Amino acid sequence: MQLTKRATAVDRRPMNALEKIYLWNILKGMAVTFKHMFKKRPTINYPEQKRPFSQVFRGLHVLNRDAEGRENCTACGLCAVACPAEAITMEAAERLPGEEHLYREEKYAAKYEINMLRCIFCGLCEEACPKDAIYLSQTFAPANYGRKGFIYKKEDLLIPHPINEPEAYKKALGEKAALKN
Ligand code: SF4
Ligand code: SF4
Repeated sequence: MQLTKRATAVDRRPMNALEKIYLWNILKGMAVTFKHMFKKRPTINYPEQKRPFSQVFRGLHVLNRDAEGRENCTACGLCAVACPAEAITMEAAERLPGEEHLYREEKYAAKYEINMLRCIFCGLCEEACPKDAIYLSQTFAPANYGRKGFIYKKEDLLIPHPINEPEAYKKALGEKAALKN
């Protein structure tokens, strides 16, 4: 029984002299290669060249600071509760007198981790956050050889200080966050 209409009968005729040296088939193969030399390349030279991201692209998480450089996160845990992949873990701590320039709220995340191997980049953590403390940027987690390299800690996620490192801060904000602000 024939399952598809793509089946072709096998040619079992003995090969002639030209076919025996495979010259004709080599020429046919080279013609295919030659034809593609004049076509527009569908590939790009990554990482030197990058394709533009969609406006709705959700990439690597960034923990936000306010304009004075204080951490926005108040360790309320709403992002962790909203996360369907249970990728977020955190530990809360009380802000001490004299730390007002570091943390915006009275409580802050002493530890904040996201497991990028579990994350499905759904953006629900960003939606759940009442403090505009987390957003998904337009970059992605770089490749790594070990599983541990995909557990992003607070220092990996925290945006650079807007006053001390203005250029790095602007770069980390990216287009998406710039539109939000
Ligand atoms: S993007 Fe989705 S899966 Fe990833 S940490 Fe946020 S809520 Fe969890
Ligand atoms: S990132 Fe937002 S939702 Fe998550 S703990 Fe911090 S303040 Fe709460």
